[in-house]
Amino acid sequence: MSALPSAGREWHLVARPHGWPTPEDFALREAPVTEPGEGRILVRNLHFSVDPYMRGRMNDVKSYVPPFQLDQPMEGGAVGEVIASNAEGFAVGDHVLHFLGWREYAEVEAGHATKVDASLAPLSAYLGVLGMPGLTAYAGLLETASFKEGDAVFVSGAAGAVGSQVGQIAKLKGASRVIGSAGSDEKVRKLVEEYGFDAAFNYKNGPVLDQLRAAAPDGIDVYFDNVGGDHLEAAISVLNPHGRATLCGMIAGYNDTVPVPGPRNMMMIIGKRLRLQGMLVRDHAALQSQFVQEVGGWLRSGELKYDETVVKGIESGVDAFLGMLRGENTGKMIVSLDQQGDR
Ligand code: NAP
Repeated sequence: MSALPSAGREWHLVARPHGWPTPEDFALREAPVTEPGEGRILVRNLHFSVDPYMRGRMNDVKSYVPPFQLDQPMEGGAVGEVIASNAEGFAVGDHVLHFLGWREYAEVEAGHATKVDASLAPLSAYLGVLGMPGLTAYAGLLETASFKEGDAVFVSGAAGAVGSQVGQIAKLKGASRVIGSAGSDEKVRKLVEEYGFDAAFNYKNGPVLDQLRAAAPDGIDVYFDNVGGDHLEAAISVLNPHGRATLCGMIAGYNDTVPVPGPRNMMMIIGKRLRLQGMLVRDHAALQSQFVQEVGGWLRSGELKYDETVVKGIESGVDAFLGMLRGENTGKMIVSLDQQGDR
């Protein structure tokens, strides 16, 4: 076995952000790398994920996932290569998905690592289109929103990791019309010309309600909410009777310092008998194999497209996270540590 490196770098949260995080809230620190303990593997991370929910983990509040600890490495999805194994079933050279991202080397409990096949898809895909965001889109549309053929669907954050998949899955499953909103004209172009959305608009170009009404003359039956705020209010106004909304994320408010006011038109929920339901992807693990099979098939046939915005080098981790919050990504935002650049 070749010698292990003596140390690796990892990102720590060093101050809790108030409002928008700043680079000073984080520090890149060195930590020793040692042989893995009993039942553990040592992984050289090749790609790690920066996700919107991580902003919530920077606050010291009780939530569905505990806050990051100050002066400790941050966590999140990562894929990497096993470089030392002290666990049955894992060998040096295996590729694994695990939850100790934001660092170059991770000592992972074997039970917390899942082997992934680099010959089936690029490894980064297991953090996006074939990973947690992909399952979120699949489950949030088909299960939470009870999507059915013929539904007209509106998705916000439509050029992101979750949103781009929601719109395409809706089309593949027979939606009558798919509408997306995103934060740049280039993203809007991509939604229509590359992902096959029927209509799309740039929410920065005018009121969401006006633009949604114009894009959905017959209303919408399903709203997949990644954004909250004025998007949710507009969707409530445009949803048809018995419409359904999946409340997946509300990124417009993640850096707010005071509670975000709710939609002003909640009363419409009664008259239109709408169903607005929150979702957490972790509740939908039972769909995992169906998801991989169906989405894997669409990827192989070329019917489903996906983008990744790849930022290179661990030094860029925080910039990638902040850039994702600002909308600099199209599709999944990935931090790549892979020297070879081919996995
Ligand atoms: P993403 O969409 O790939 O990236 C975030 C995007 O949010 C940015 O690219 C930006 O795109 C958009 N954005 C930022 N600020 C905005 C604002 N004020 N108004 C409108 N759009 C804004 O991220 P993702 O991983 O796919 O996640 C999408 C949403 O799903 C997030 O809300 C996330 O928290 C949620 N989520 C929930 C679950 C769950 O289990 N409930 C799981 C995964 C993700 P623009 O250029 O379009 O502004």
